[in-house]
Amino acid sequence: MTTTITHFINGADTIGAGDRTQTVYNPATGEATGELRLANRADIDDVVAAAKAASESWAETSLSKRVAVLFKFRELLAENVQELAKIVTSEHGKVVSDAAGEVGRGLEVVEYACGAAQSLKGEYSDQVSGGIDVFSFRQPLGVVAGITPFNFPVMVPLWMAPVAIVTGNAFILKPSERDPSASLFLARLWKEAGLPDGVFNVLQGDKEAVDGLLTHPDVDGISFVGSTPIARYVYETGTQHGKRVQALGGAKNHAVVMPDADMDLAADHINAAAFGSAGQRCMAISVAVAVGDAAEGLVAKLKERAEAVKVANGMEPDADMGPVITPQSKARLQKIVGEAQDAGAALIVDGRDLVVKDHENGFFVGPTVIDHVRREMTAYQEEIFGPVLAVVRVANIEEALDVINSNPYGNGTAIFTSSGAYARAFTRGVKVGMVGVNIPLPVPVAWHSFGGWKDSLFGDHHIYGPDGIRFYTRGKVVTQRWPEPKQASGASFAFPSN
Ligand code: NAD
Repeated sequence: MTTTITHFINGADTIGAGDRTQTVYNPATGEATGELRLANRADIDDVVAAAKAASESWAETSLSKRVAVLFKFRELLAENVQELAKIVTSEHGKVVSDAAGEVGRGLEVVEYACGAAQSLKGEYSDQVSGGIDVFSFRQPLGVVAGITPFNFPVMVPLWMAPVAIVTGNAFILKPSERDPSASLFLARLWKEAGLPDGVFNVLQGDKEAVDGLLTHPDVDGISFVGSTPIARYVYETGTQHGKRVQALGGAKNHAVVMPDADMDLAADHINAAAFGSAGQRCMAISVAVAVGDAAEGLVAKLKERAEAVKVANGMEPDADMGPVITPQSKARLQKIVGEAQDAGAALIVDGRDLVVKDHENGFFVGPTVIDHVRREMTAYQEEIFGPVLAVVRVANIEEALDVINSNPYGNGTAIFTSSGAYARAFTRGVKVGMVGVNIPLPVPVAWHSFGGWKDSLFGDHHIYGPDGIRFYTRGKVVTQRWPEPKQASGASFAFPSN
């Protein structure tokens, strides 16, 4: 039995006008669980019209009323963490505790948005010239869309929607077609929190829905998170159509391990950061860069830990890691690892053919560690987005920085060391947007914005936090004079100056 997964437009579930559908699977069992409705042109026009109408009255709603909805939404979300986590696990496959963690990080952004009154305070300059004052403030864009990836079906939409909504915009979420159900749960919570119909909408769909949003004249802004080729396409197409766009792309995140690091701590954290969520995180560590004689001890410890990871259905309470998202993702990973081995890399832990008991049709692969990976190998160059950790050996920190800085991606990175001097040289010299020191997944807290460099982000704004407020609003500056009755006008043909 599969369920029909609908759109949510103007406050109600709807199957829409499109007649195309896509099957949604439980990756742990391989079973079809849902039939997703895919939007067509009429659905796109419908959702944008509903959002546009709602955005006009929502932007006029007082800030205190908007913030009150955010507080209520925060309460409801906090009450439903476990239920949402189970929905995520059933379509994504990650373990329930990890899914609950993702909801928790989304909740942080909601809490940040609850404090928007502080962020939206304008600026005022008194008496800049005789009798003239200047003030500036920010206003919403109007209708904004969020196009999101499969790997964080709750957190990534919550990087966007709370900030867009509290600043007075209407929001259209276009979730991943692989795990779309969490989006509808969020929609119901927004409605229950008192958000007016049409301010938060869900448009289910694929490329047709994305293209429709990118080119629609009534969509003012686009936030995208996904792979680099699509991020580049979204940025180029959206900006060509006059929209403000932030497009976050893929990643290849390196963890540098210096010889002076606490090797047990480094191995524990790299293991968890490489294999948590089956390596399907944009901040996952996929390359360990072992400096000098760090390599031998580190690789032995990584092997031990990777072999101890419990791979199981994410619903099992003691599971460490679940399946990958599709059989295609598993096959691609198997191929890339095989090619690396053929090119001379050493396969230290091989999880390619792992079978999980009673889940023979699930899309499982086990943790895989490949040593002596070189920069020209596909296993180094491409984002694998699965539980594969490549170890690259270098002589010193300069070479480690050169490896990372030559890589086209620049999302996250980390250094493990006990030296402040190494840590400082690394954090200053590395061309990456988010850096951890003895922290493997340096995802910024909600009041610092999240974003990578180079091919990991197209656009000028990072996401959530202060950059989120700036992205979803535009500034206005007012220069005003209130002359005394009958005062000389002072008008002049010369350009006004002070
Ligand atoms: P994806 O690029 O395949 O899909 C992302 C979104 O784009 C989905 O909503 C999808 O429907 C849409 N899409 C896919 N193909 C399209 C096309 N040809 N035209 C228009 N739209 C299209 O990404 P994914 O596989 O769902 O997610 C994994 C990727 O996301 C990884 O590369 C990961 O690194 C990246 N990611 C990045 C961040 C970040 O913050 N930088 C965060 C999470 C995930």
